[in-house]
Amino acid sequence: MHCAGLVEGGRFRHLCVRCEKLLHVVQAPHCTTCGHPFFGEMAENRLCPHCETLEARFGEGKTAILLQGPGRSLVHALKYHKGQHVLEDIVVIMREAPGYSDYLCGAVLVPVPLHPHKERARSYNQSRLLADCCAQAVDGQAEVRELLARVVNTESQTRYDRETRQENLKNAFAMANGATINPAQRYLLVDDVFTTGSTLNSCASVLRRAGALTLDVVTFGHG
Ligand SMILES: [Zn+2]
Ligand SMILES: [Zn+2]
Repeated sequence: MHCAGLVEGGRFRHLCVRCEKLLHVVQAPHCTTCGHPFFGEMAENRLCPHCETLEARFGEGKTAILLQGPGRSLVHALKYHKGQHVLEDIVVIMREAPGYSDYLCGAVLVPVPLHPHKERARSYNQSRLLADCCAQAVDGQAEVRELLARVVNTESQTRYDRETRQENLKNAFAMANGATINPAQRYLLVDDVFTTGSTLNSCASVLRRAGALTLDVVTFGHG
């Protein structure tokens, strides 16, 4: 899929053996907030420079891959080209990413919602599909619950800096109708990609206000 090469004999249905080698699966040590790996001598997990200024409203964060090369192609296929077929490969990656399954086990997975208009246009919410992949990767030892709703249709945020995004996003999310929080439960916000962390932060604020005490985030990619 990424290189249009023949997919044969590897572990994936949509990535060939060569692309499989180019996949950057995140290893420790990595940033404890966004999951971005540290390269070089760093011995233990700590915050990356970006996350030092994020004021994260969630505890920890973890990601499976870096959003480059074939990894980027998988996410783009899913997000922009109705490529739900890549989900089976994504589950394989989630199962094999170091520490990823342990991190998911026992959590309630809360997908970052799309605005209903956008979801209707795309016909699915990729974060919901990825949350389902997470649940599959741990053989059902985590459950997906759509506890959040997107109440403001924020336009594409990519052209704004972080401060402006945060302002726009502040009131974009709310608890879904009838959704409740059990303070004894661990919640994991699920998004496709960790970029600035602003979206995850706004969602985390809503869940915190609703009473979530143990709240972490998980993404498939970091980009
Ligand atoms: Zn290939
Ligand atoms: Zn970070």
